[in-house]
Amino acid sequence: MATRIPFYSFEYQNQQVKKEVQQVLLDVFDSAWYILGERVAQFEKEYADYIGVKHCIGVGKGLDALKISLRVLGIKPGDEVILPANTYIATLLAVSEIGAIPVLVDPDISTFNIDPNKIAAKITAKTKAILPVHLYGLPCDMDAIANLANQHGLFIVEDNAQASGALYKGRKTGSFGHVNAHSFYPTKNLGCLGDGGAITTNDDEFARQVRMLRNYGSEVKYKNELLGYNSRLDEIQAAVLSIKLPYLEQWRKEKALLAAAYFKGLQDISPIQLPADVATDYTHSHHLFVVHVLHREGLAAYLKNQGIETLIHYPIPAYRQQAYIGAGFNPHDYPVTEKMTSEILSLPLYPGMKLEEVEQVISLIRQFTF
Ligand SMILES: *Cc1c(COP(=O)(O)O)cnc(C)c1O
Repeated sequence: MATRIPFYSFEYQNQQVKKEVQQVLLDVFDSAWYILGERVAQFEKEYADYIGVKHCIGVGKGLDALKISLRVLGIKPGDEVILPANTYIATLLAVSEIGAIPVLVDPDISTFNIDPNKIAAKITAKTKAILPVHLYGLPCDMDAIANLANQHGLFIVEDNAQASGALYKGRKTGSFGHVNAHSFYPTKNLGCLGDGGAITTNDDEFARQVRMLRNYGSEVKYKNELLGYNSRLDEIQAAVLSIKLPYLEQWRKEKALLAAAYFKGLQDISPIQLPADVATDYTHSHHLFVVHVLHREGLAAYLKNQGIETLIHYPIPAYRQQAYIGAGFNPHDYPVTEKMTSEILSLPLYPGMKLEEVEQVISLIRQFTF
């Protein structure tokens, strides 16, 4: 009997950092300083250097990073923000939460990313920003998006939640937009031990306002200039992230080898369409390995029977969720999202997954009668 293969496992990553993490948890405990201390400042500096930007500000979670990014750009109720129709609901919620109007754009079916050719038609006098999402870890076409933003005087906010470590034309994603959002949710490429997030920017004033917004709108204690939030990365999470950051590139490379094995093993199976084989300008973070499959439900059930866990990202588009009933979205406006939603399947891929395990998934898929 073949071994079970989970969709994701922390085992390998955790083992690599376990000793250091155990020590730092005790150190933070003993330090008696838990919020906005030197460990947060230290990680912010390291992550800013890693991404290649001037400022990084730790926040409580990726959703807050998005929301606060939009706030510092002055986006207000009634303003329009353009984002991909097939993103995780967090991107859409961030726009809704600040009262702005989300304007959805279908993706390119081969990259899963927002289709730059469909953006211009959605730009109106009310449009304030484009919010590209590097979905599954593949960078968006940032040149095309920057051109549109420049032409129309729009801000760019990158949703880099799935793409820590990805590069576009040699530059890290999360360094292209005016203000950019990152998530350190445990299963993201760089994950902490709970919720965590960050904002990156090269702009001093935006950075100052993000620092205020994450901390009750205050720069000087007990003086509140802005209607802020309580959304701070805490010392424990920052300390753990500082330990894990130096491993991020190694983990990405390990996942890239596994993804290449999937490519090689599945390329001649016609009912399976592989994700876009990324061109030289794009370095994938390999957050998720998502294929299109004919007869997906059958394949997923068969793999489950064989002990292989798969998932769907995402089984219901955000705009069709019950929470958005009455918001005026029409599924007919997003035919590409609708089509991909019925076909996509995410195969197991995580740091520490063995090449033999990928081979096992491939071999089982090859035995399946589509
Ligand atoms: C995970 C995720 C978020 C939200 O991050 P949290 O830290 O869970 O709040 C936002 N956008 C995308 C695309 C994500 O995958």
